[in-house]
Amino acid sequence: MDLGIKEKKVLVTAASKGIGKACAKAYAEEGARVFIASRNQTKLEETVHDLREQTGNPHVMSVVCDLTKAADIQNMIEEIGRIDILINNVGGPPAGNFADFADQDWLKAFEQLLMSVVRTVRAVAPGMKQQQFGRIVNITSSSMKEALDGLLLSNTFRPAIVGLSKSLSQELASDQILINSIGPGKIETDRIREIYQDKASIEKVGKTIPIGRIGQPAEFAKAVLFLGSAANTYITGQTLVVDGGAMKTL
Ligand code: NAD
Repeated sequence: MDLGIKEKKVLVTAASKGIGKACAKAYAEEGARVFIASRNQTKLEETVHDLREQTGNPHVMSVVCDLTKAADIQNMIEEIGRIDILINNVGGPPAGNFADFADQDWLKAFEQLLMSVVRTVRAVAPGMKQQQFGRIVNITSSSMKEALDGLLLSNTFRPAIVGLSKSLSQELASDQILINSIGPGKIETDRIREIYQDKASIEKVGKTIPIGRIGQPAEFAKAVLFLGSAANTYITGQTLVVDGGAMKTL
């Protein structure tokens, strides 16, 4: 299938490692012009080097951006210019129950998870409208559909992204801008390795998933790549969970 993304300008945020990096790699393999963003310049440069080497695509570039800061997001988009495809990713919030969080924790999660999406979309939408083409994919969590134990901040703000995206899909469809949200179940990144610590524990958790194992970032990236491509011409305002069958909700 021709994904129609050769030479398209793609921004993947929070992409110095993990799922974001895997998405950036998938686009670079397809010949897109890929911009990756995160907070640390040195780490970003290492990732750019890796991705160029692994994909043979020299058009992988980086922009430093702390997605909790409005000014950083504005500067990032000004630096990149017109964007065809936006993959919204950001680091996850801390785990905890209701009693664990004070106002400042709620406000931080609000800025990080929800306002980062509001601000990136606000910055890219005018250019996408002008060119009558845009694809936006929000990377969230399976908590957008089913609450996860001990992840109250995620359970609150991930569904908010789904509501926002549904409204945006209605507003932006006539300008050929399609927006969808994809949630990882358990995907083997540093975040998961920190939680489960060793290979044996990761395998044990994998056995609880119908498909029999934890997913790999590249498997997740394939779904992002399709929804965030020109080959996706009619899917918008939807949510997709990539979880090996773990979630039972419809
Ligand atoms: P990760 O910790 O491996 O990578 C997170 C990336 O986000 C890094 O590149 C980091 O530098 C960047 N980042 C964090 N805060 C940032 C900020 N304020 N500004 C800019 N960049 C920032 O995480 P991951 O496992 O790849 O997960 C990606 C997203 O998917 C997270 O939101 C996570 O909560 C969510 N998620 C992951 C899983 C999973 O199984 N891996 C499951 C559910 C949800």
